[in-house]
Amino acid sequence: MTPPSPPITVTQPYLPPLEEFIPYLEQIWESKRLTNGGPFHQQLETELARYLGVDHLSLFANGTLALVTALQALRITGEVITTPYTFAATAHSLLWNNIKPVFVDIDPHTCNLDPDRIEEAITPATTAILPVHCYGIPCDVERIERIADTYGLKVIYDAAHAFGVRQDGESILRHGDLSILSFHATKVFNTFEGGAIICPDAKIKQRIDYLKNFGFADEVTVVAPGINGKMNEVQAAMGLLQLRHIDEAMNTRAVIYQRYREVLQDIPTLKLITLPDDIVWNHAYCPIFVDRAHPVSRNRIYDQLKEHDIHARRYFYPLLSAFPMYRGLPSANPTRLPNAHRLAQQVLCLPLYPTLEKTEQMTIIDIIRRSAQ
Ligand SMILES: *Cc1c(COP(=O)(O)O)cnc(C)c1O
Repeated sequence: MTPPSPPITVTQPYLPPLEEFIPYLEQIWESKRLTNGGPFHQQLETELARYLGVDHLSLFANGTLALVTALQALRITGEVITTPYTFAATAHSLLWNNIKPVFVDIDPHTCNLDPDRIEEAITPATTAILPVHCYGIPCDVERIERIADTYGLKVIYDAAHAFGVRQDGESILRHGDLSILSFHATKVFNTFEGGAIICPDAKIKQRIDYLKNFGFADEVTVVAPGINGKMNEVQAAMGLLQLRHIDEAMNTRAVIYQRYREVLQDIPTLKLITLPDDIVWNHAYCPIFVDRAHPVSRNRIYDQLKEHDIHARRYFYPLLSAFPMYRGLPSANPTRLPNAHRLAQQVLCLPLYPTLEKTEQMTIIDIIRRSAQ
């Protein structure tokens, strides 16, 4: 087989036609409004809230600053319960706030924080839970809310993967005290870099808006030691343009995912993610889990794809709890995180993006199918 060229990566940023972006840039040049809540920023906040089906949101320069600021906005301290099966930013945002992460194992079917394991990890120092809707699959939001209410804890969802995901007809972003999104280039919806905090009411949005702008409430009043987390006008313009194409991009993702699913679900030693039937998913990722009984290992499949210049990714391997700044924590002990460790050994995220060609995808499917023989 001739290797496809150029290389196929796990994702490719969705870029709308360049000529559609030029008028936005001309407007920015004309108005000389580059940042600080300019017109595109304001318009994107309004349009995104409507698109996502949430009441308020505050745009950020990236998702990590949104996470760090969300923790500040709710004055979270002490210990926070979170998942090891996620991207570095989730727990790093805790360390940036001097908060101790407490890792809890995941449910192997959803890859999300296991609600059965949360209560035993609560101590007098616990102030919040920071779950992740991993791969855009919703956490068990009802049970998490019940636990949080019982123990008086806040809940901040890292919803970086969950753009546009709905459950029972409602945005998944409406749960918890706050949710954060990432609009990084690799995500379903991108503004080059970017992010947002979803806010349930105007009051908390106001506080977050101050915090992302150094704490300035007006020209002479600084109400908090804020940070610079503002999204600029070029990013916001990109967001407005992306919104015009996002439904089509997500539909194409769904078609590609289904094509993987149709073939791979027949291979008994490979597992796909379990999709709850009450959700509208965004097809953000295509994780497959390679069973021990599969003829070749996960890493061997990863290498075989690489030999064809196809770059799948092992999201999330290594686990966050194995990073040097976390592995000394008692909760990072692998014996306490058996599901997370097993899935980190088994997972492989296959290339999935709107411009992935069918022939390219068939090459990927072929390699994986042959690995099963
Ligand atoms: C991408 C991502 C982030 C960080 O977002 P950035 O916009 O890249 O800062 C946080 N959490 C998770 C789970 C992510 O995948």
